[in-house]
Amino acid sequence: MQLLDGKIVSQAVKADIKHQAQLLQQAGKKTPHLAAVLVGTNGASETYVASKVKSCAEVGFKSTLIRLEENISETELLSTLEKLNQDDDIDGILVQLPLPRHIREEKVINAILPEKDVDGFHPVNTGRMVQGQPSFIPATPYGIMLMLEHYQIETAGKHAVVIGRSNIVGRPISILLSLNTNPGNCTVTVCHSRTANLKEICLQADIIVAALGKPGFLTADMVKENAVVIDVGITRVADATKRTGFAIKGDVDFEAVAPVCSYITPVPGGVGLMTIAALLKNTLRAVEFKS
Ligand code: NAD
Repeated sequence: MQLLDGKIVSQAVKADIKHQAQLLQQAGKKTPHLAAVLVGTNGASETYVASKVKSCAEVGFKSTLIRLEENISETELLSTLEKLNQDDDIDGILVQLPLPRHIREEKVINAILPEKDVDGFHPVNTGRMVQGQPSFIPATPYGIMLMLEHYQIETAGKHAVVIGRSNIVGRPISILLSLNTNPGNCTVTVCHSRTANLKEICLQADIIVAALGKPGFLTADMVKENAVVIDVGITRVADATKRTGFAIKGDVDFEAVAPVCSYITPVPGGVGLMTIAALLKNTLRAVEFKS
């Protein structure tokens, strides 16, 4: 079994991004600039946004963090986004999800200019991705593809089973794995909460992407010998032995599954780190698309 190490791959991707950003500057182009919008004070969202901002500095990007009150109106949030859309110095805009319940996520996603939508959630980017056209690819699936690419994992002709069909992980990774690309060219089965015989389907998989948000869900008896297992899950589970009071758990029963597979991502230290690297890559591409 080989560990797919998000730390090693994300550092390699970030080093390359830093180099590309320097080349842009030498060519007289602008410094990539990401605007991150955080509504409210959700603990996990605070952590994610802080690490995105920190990672921008690491690769030499500019970043602007816009903090808005939990009770901001949808109209006010939309007008903030409109200003960012109009600001020529801002290349990428992300709004940290989830949003407070009184704000419609779909409205907000649709309000970001597709050419600044570095989270890749706008329907224009989704449509372009489905057709295999250049687009911003949602950061987590993009991070998974970068990881498969880094480890040169053979995907063509393989059966990939994706557990989860969300717009941000399950559905886009299922599409990316099915495209005529490398990595890609998989035969993909998408499973979800209404799937019957999930265990039998998983046992047929050469590659399993677990993205359902249920800690330890994928057990060893669901995994074929030598399968590749990608664990996307991030769930905070109470743990009194931790300083924070919680531990981060993935969707895979790692201890039991690891000995069965050929490759596996750990949690933490796997896909989560790749997500930020992929976001930075999208931000760099936002500048490159302009030139
Ligand atoms: P979601 O809640 O939007 O979607 C979960 C999906 O799992 C749904 O499509 C549902 O049909 C499916 N599902 C639920 N129970 C199931 C079951 N018993 N059997 C089969 N399918 C089932 O979640 P999401 O936003 O896609 O996130 C999934 C997980 O990935 C969460 O733990 C989330 O925290 C994590 N996540 C991690 C990253 C990262 O950077 N690593 C990024 C995004 C999400």
